[in-house]
Amino acid sequence: MSKRDFYEILGVNRDASEDEIKKAYRKMAMKYHPDRNPDNPGAEEKFKEAKEAYEILSDGQKRAAYDQYGHAGIDQQAGMGGGGGGFADAFGGIFDEIFGGRAGGGGRSNIYRGADLRYNLEITLEQAAHGTETKIRIPTMEVCEPCHGSGAKAGTQPKTCPTCGGSGQVRLQQGFFSIQQTCHKCHGTGRFIADPCKTCDGAGRIKQHKTLAVKIPAGVDEGDRIRLSGEGEHGVNGGPPGDLYVQIHLKQHPVFTRDHNDLHCEMPISFTAAALGGEIEIPTLDGAAAIKIPPETQSGRVFRLRGKGIKGVRSHTHGDLMCHVVVETPVNLTDRQKELLRELEESSRDNNGKHNPRSKSWMDKVKDFFAE
Ligand SMILES: [Zn+2]
Ligand SMILES: [Zn+2]
Repeated sequence: MSKRDFYEILGVNRDASEDEIKKAYRKMAMKYHPDRNPDNPGAEEKFKEAKEAYEILSDGQKRAAYDQYGHAGIDQQAGMGGGGGGFADAFGGIFDEIFGGRAGGGGRSNIYRGADLRYNLEITLEQAAHGTETKIRIPTMEVCEPCHGSGAKAGTQPKTCPTCGGSGQVRLQQGFFSIQQTCHKCHGTGRFIADPCKTCDGAGRIKQHKTLAVKIPAGVDEGDRIRLSGEGEHGVNGGPPGDLYVQIHLKQHPVFTRDHNDLHCEMPISFTAAALGGEIEIPTLDGAAAIKIPPETQSGRVFRLRGKGIKGVRSHTHGDLMCHVVVETPVNLTDRQKELLRELEESSRDNNGKHNPRSKSWMDKVKDFFAE
């Protein structure tokens, strides 16, 4: 059966920490504990609701399942029939025995908006940069066809609940105080199904899957959420449905890393290209581009290609592409190549660091350090 959003029940954000959830629950429990609310008929219901919400949200695994699939993600049994609350069962029993047919107040079942759902969608950096359209498959509770949502076997109708007289609420009047609670027999629906539909077991809804087309706007980033209005869980007692949030996750890219709208990449260049300069072709998200490497380029130098980054969803300009130079030491050298390098080394020696000022200045510092 449909239920209220657990986050809404506890009054916390969807990204609330464990501590915040615990605090919120404690507050609710103190406020609505039936012992403290003899004159507030709705308190016990609120107390049970908060307890159930807390049981799910305080359990990492259950919370994740709920975030992704909503109430459908949680074991149906756990959610129904009073959630194993000994308190409610004890109370219900008393009602049945003493006040069975006589109960029935003017209480109206509450109307609530359905829970929001979350769907994690992984996309590539290219898809994020250029935008894309994709299809997602999500579990959903749909109206059961054979019984048209009534939950009663074809050809039969649900009857008015004999315990509450159809109001969904029962009221206990005892001296000067009265307690009102949701009818335990019909769970507040006011209806009683003698012969339940076999397809849905009387629930009126069955778990199905639906496919939705999702338009991903160009420029989305890790953690962005796209809201599909009304695609969340069905509302309670005719309330509006919740929303579905598609949460974006970016796959790791083999070349680029993203920092907001800027892209970074490592650009290994050969030791000779670094020394002599040259032109290097590099990839960008919009095809290849060339970078002129000036002579005497050092490792760690960053070349910025303006506008070759990503245009964010809410920004008017493109970010930049930053290419970080890494000078590569040559490997697998032939004897001839080694000879050339030795020759180079030989010719550079005794020049007082002219060709390698950084090494020279570092060596000088090291000497000074040991001399002290
Ligand atoms: Zn009832
Ligand atoms: Zn059915």
